[in-house]
Amino acid sequence: MNQKYDVIILGAGAAGLMCAIEAGKRGRRVLVLERGDRIGKKILISGGGRCNFTNLYTSPENFFSANRHFAKSALARYTPADFVRLVEKHRIPYHEKKLGQLFCDRAASDITTMLDRECRDAGVEIRPNTRVSKVRKNEAQNEVQKDDQFIVQTEDARFGANRLVVATGGLSIAKIGATSFGYDLARQFGLKIEPPRAALVPLVFSEPDRKRWCDLAGVSTEVIASIRGSKQMFRENMLFTHRGISGPAILQISSYWDGKEPIHLDLAPDRDLTAELRTRGQRDQSSGKLLLLLRDVLPRRLADRWLETYPLPGNSDRAFADAERQLHAWEVKPEGTEGYGKAEVTAGGVDTGELSAKTMEARNVPGLFFIGEVVDVTGQLGGFNFQWAWASGFCAGQAM
Ligand SMILES: Cc1cc2nc3c(=O)[nH]c(=O)nc-3n(C[C@H](O)[C@H](O)[C@H](O)COP(=O)(O)OP(=O)(O)OC[C@H]3O[C@@H](n4cnc5c(N)ncnc54)[C@H](O)[C@@H]3O)c2cc1C
Repeated sequence: MNQKYDVIILGAGAAGLMCAIEAGKRGRRVLVLERGDRIGKKILISGGGRCNFTNLYTSPENFFSANRHFAKSALARYTPADFVRLVEKHRIPYHEKKLGQLFCDRAASDITTMLDRECRDAGVEIRPNTRVSKVRKNEAQNEVQKDDQFIVQTEDARFGANRLVVATGGLSIAKIGATSFGYDLARQFGLKIEPPRAALVPLVFSEPDRKRWCDLAGVSTEVIASIRGSKQMFRENMLFTHRGISGPAILQISSYWDGKEPIHLDLAPDRDLTAELRTRGQRDQSSGKLLLLLRDVLPRRLADRWLETYPLPGNSDRAFADAERQLHAWEVKPEGTEGYGKAEVTAGGVDTGELSAKTMEARNVPGLFFIGEVVDVTGQLGGFNFQWAWASGFCAGQAM
């Protein structure tokens, strides 16, 4: 015997909960099935525990997808100001850290508590610790009694609803519950998938570079990271790790890396060391002078290692100019990324060509919706991924 609902949502993460709230507010009977033991686990660990819940400057340019126009409609219908209004309604203290990034003052649990309350007020039923074993579409439904289009089988129960929303997220961080469930379900219903890949992810050096640089783990410096052939450039910090490089600049550029092209790093943004030497009246361009200047630009240990690795090849103007050029255009060829275990998001996912940009409903499977990270829309670092989750969840919720 099916337990009947109007809407079943798979996944109690950011997107699923937002969709549940909106559908509930519209008077729908909503059930959320969550595999984990509590809601919003990723929200809880996000933003270093403070959840960077949106970005004031969100625009479609902050997202990438095989169809870069797809996200525009949802992002316009549910904006950062809408989410901020919700946060303020619940009197959650927050601040702008930098570049429009809004964080909780206290803890990310303020956001999950808020979503939980909103769900309760909207009459949403949430069942944690629920494993879905099978989903099927009831093709033989009676035209007159159009209910239970979708049957969701769990270990100990069976639920039916006319609308099924898949909000099961991407593959990042399996240890807190990420699964390929959403992609598998999309395939089951014949939807195409853009191949998933780890994004916003630290990069791993090749063996020789690991030996050369990785004892500097913990050292960080401001860089401009870019890739030839891409117009994306990120001026932020880079951090040496035990296996390679990370930090905001690297996480950002990793999302645009094809796994082959070298990464370009300007280690001295806006600095013109040759001119600085000239204005200091220091005409002779020795290694010692360069080291002093480098220590002014880079953390001391990195400056020393840089000159050990790339010694000044003479005292000529040309040698100095070459050394400076290299500092502005360090080419790093990573061996790979740290993968889904350390990636903040999964790029790729359900092909947006399969979905309505207005409602997130599958064009060829009426009643089936995909929202949040499982869709091939990925945000840059800085609160954009949550904004996509809220916006896509809202749009689907409005369509229930
Ligand atoms: C460490 C870390 C920090 C981050 N920090 C930020 C940040 O500060 N700002 C930002 O914008 N983004 C951040 N992100 C990205 C952001 O968390 C995600 O993009 C966002 O959570 C995606 O929302 P979602 O609802 O689509 O998926 P998720 O939040 O991943 O939710 C999916 C839910 O589905 C459940 N689920 C999976 N399979 C099943 C199944 N078969 N049945 C039932 N339930 C299932 C999962 O347990 C999970 O609860 C961070 C990510 C990580 C990993």
